[in-house]
Amino acid sequence: MNQEIKEKSNYCLNCKIKPCTNKGCPLNNDIPEFIKQIKEENYEEAYHILTSTTVLQAVCGRICPHKKQCQGVCIRGIKGEPVSIGDLEAFVGDYAIQNSLKIPKEEEKNLVNKKVAIVGGGPSGLTCAAFLAKKGIQVTIYERYDFLGGLLMYGIPDFRLSKDIVKNTIQKILDLGIEVKYHQKLGENLKLEDLTKQFDSVYLAFGANCSSKMGIEGEDLEGVYGGNELLELKKHPNYKDKTVLVNGGGNVAIDTARTIKRMGAKKVVIVYRRAKEQMPAEEKEVQDAEKEGIEILFQHNMVKIKGNKKVEGVEVMRTKLVQKEGERRLSPVNIEGSNYVIHADYVMMALGSKTDAFVKKLGLELTTKNYIKIDENYKTSNPKVFAGGDVVGEKGTVAWAARNGRDVANKIIAEFSSL
Ligand code: SF4
Repeated sequence: MNQEIKEKSNYCLNCKIKPCTNKGCPLNNDIPEFIKQIKEENYEEAYHILTSTTVLQAVCGRICPHKKQCQGVCIRGIKGEPVSIGDLEAFVGDYAIQNSLKIPKEEEKNLVNKKVAIVGGGPSGLTCAAFLAKKGIQVTIYERYDFLGGLLMYGIPDFRLSKDIVKNTIQKILDLGIEVKYHQKLGENLKLEDLTKQFDSVYLAFGANCSSKMGIEGEDLEGVYGGNELLELKKHPNYKDKTVLVNGGGNVAIDTARTIKRMGAKKVVIVYRRAKEQMPAEEKEVQDAEKEGIEILFQHNMVKIKGNKKVEGVEVMRTKLVQKEGERRLSPVNIEGSNYVIHADYVMMALGSKTDAFVKKLGLELTTKNYIKIDENYKTSNPKVFAGGDVVGEKGTVAWAARNGRDVANKIIAEFSSL
């Protein structure tokens, strides 16, 4: 075994209470058990333990915010460094890819005639598809692009997650016997009504892909872009010798800034309203961005984008953090008179996502923020239709989207089994 992996696995204490599994991991992966199998060099068994809760090992091992999840509650972390759970999970995922291990099937006779349509082939849709197909259910994924993976393919730059890893991980899922129909867009050439007639259940997992705006003056100027659209559609302008301001503090902001810097921008500055310790982006990504020369202005708020037709600069204000009644975390408040202007050629809004306008036409009940409304069983207002992931406003991480997908698969299986 690779010496480094050996040391990393031996470092795990195999705790009985498993805080890493029970409190840290959104998917509740049996972390001490799969690590124990690595220690004993039973890599195939380690993979099988993981496949009972996840099908994205090689992906989540690389891109999950481990410090905020499993590694953040690891007992080893109390007095020193936590176990490198992400690296060990990625090792198992890579081993499965290199050795062509298959996701085990557990077909159930009473389920093989059931048919489920999944709209959206991102992490949530793929996970749901895998857990249904394992049981022998006939699954068809309807995908709007000509590739699967969603944000794993376009939202996370190659330097964080190689596309080969994503493609190989997806292939394992498809090998369970899943049909895929590409270039299918709900609200255009795909109708929810038709799917509910043709299938026993439908899972909507097409994400929320429109960048949110701030609602400040100048946001409509030429040169202001949404971080999501930029990464997704790769419609980048020429950044050579330009100064780019990125607004936001999550992983999309960091990924956008790092991508733009690599594309030749002279200067990239992230503007974030809160303090460094409140940044939702993964700590390591923030450090890497800073090492790459990206400047981060903490406790700064964009208040106006200046320019004639095109962006010329951004007026910012410094902020102070105050505890507001009823709010869990400190809120940023602009400091009167602290305004100044920063030169900018482009401004990228990376403030989170909202749903596409077409969700309003699906005939389903929505929340006040235009997410699809679901009950505790992930059911929408149409009893045949489930929804999960970003389209219902779930916490925007890959692991949580996958968790929704797995939960929905289990709900559908339980429903079919009770008939
Ligand atoms: S908490 Fe840390 S040391 Fe304990 S079982 Fe989990 S990974 Fe191992």
